[in-house]
Amino acid sequence: GTLKILVCGGGNGAHCMAALASCRPHVEVRVLTLYKDEAESWTKALEEDDMTISITYSENHTEDVKSRPSLVTKDPEKATDGIHMIFFTVPAFAHEQYLNAISKYVLDNTLLIGLPGQAGFEFQAVKALGTKAKQCAVASFESLPWACRIMEFGRHVQLLGFKESLGAAILIGSKSNLTAHSLDIIQFIFGENPVFKVINNYVAINLMAKSIIHPPLMYGRWRGYKGEVLQEKPLFYQGVDEEQAGLLSKVSDEVVNTAKVIQDKRKNIDMSAVIHILDWYREYYCHEISDHSCLMKAMQTNKAYDGLLHPMKPGGDDGKGFIPDFHYRYTREDVPFGLVVMKGIAEIAGVETPTIDTIITWAQKQLGKEFIVGNRLTGKDMNETRAPQVYGFETLDHLFHV
Ligand code: NAD
Repeated sequence: GTLKILVCGGGNGAHCMAALASCRPHVEVRVLTLYKDEAESWTKALEEDDMTISITYSENHTEDVKSRPSLVTKDPEKATDGIHMIFFTVPAFAHEQYLNAISKYVLDNTLLIGLPGQAGFEFQAVKALGTKAKQCAVASFESLPWACRIMEFGRHVQLLGFKESLGAAILIGSKSNLTAHSLDIIQFIFGENPVFKVINNYVAINLMAKSIIHPPLMYGRWRGYKGEVLQEKPLFYQGVDEEQAGLLSKVSDEVVNTAKVIQDKRKNIDMSAVIHILDWYREYYCHEISDHSCLMKAMQTNKAYDGLLHPMKPGGDDGKGFIPDFHYRYTREDVPFGLVVMKGIAEIAGVETPTIDTIITWAQKQLGKEFIVGNRLTGKDMNETRAPQVYGFETLDHLFHV
């Protein structure tokens, strides 16, 4: 029969996913977008012509492919009717809105997929599904499979490059008939690249979320900031110094230690996917990094990071110059949907995380929030995070018997 999938979102990733999946035989694709008038304008674009996806396979091999989703709507009931798989392809702060919109229509044995999930997606999804969670499965990808951007809304999207490999974890409800093989179907939808690597448990993928990277670098660069206006935006990765690299390395040590303690307490759980950030760079950016000798050099010489700048906003009175933007997603998302989730898992494992605590404490001040108090996650704004505790996961048993 036909595989029916739903793509939630209306941004770069959602365009790419919708256009790519619509090219596959026996796959029907629908799109649910709740943001502003995106559903209307995308529908209008489709009345005129199919979508075009310009795919870059290599430097001198690009291809334009035409395809169209069968429906773009803001109506969650129409969107979910008879659907087998639901992809969430939006920034993490928008997940909750989509989960709440679709949860009452979700059928048994539906697979929900965070593409990417970002830390805490599973906790939030399980909570939103309520009793249905046992009949469904929740998968989470560690990143988006492609670099992509919209050229013209609803009409044209560019797939600039494929990742070579990509980790995914699946959390299967005890009464569902889904299996890890459900991920094979997703591989078919995406095509040859990236090659999926199934990571054995979802807690490991939460600890490996890439939201680990930005906050320590922000803290290291700006912790002594006194409001001065800069004439240029500093380089984010190429400008990493020993201190910033040291902070990221320590955060990574705390995460790896958390995994190790969980592994010691639960012999049947495989946490081997949790590795130090330097080892991860060496593996994932093997060809892009020219100096692998240490974390600082690896980041400075990673071609994939060429020219990326610190998030800055206009600063000086004369409209010239820049000041740091502490509300950019490097802090606004990567702390409540990243470091705080990892800290929450560490708390459950009984692991101290002094460096992570220091960085959360600094970041929450910039954001005007309170997540952590001292070294405990008891701040008044904890409900705005995706720490497991927010959803009632308080012990290792809770974590591993969803
Ligand atoms: P995007 O910035 O294109 O997403 C914008 C879309 O999000 C909007 O079109 C809208 O549908 C929704 N949205 C925005 N503000 C909203 C709001 N206030 N309320 C509800 N919905 C809102 O994002 P993207 O580029 O598709 O990326 C999706 C995820 O993939 C992100 O987590 C991103 O970090 C990650 N990612 C993207 C790329 C890429 O190449 N685009 C690469 C790697 C990872």
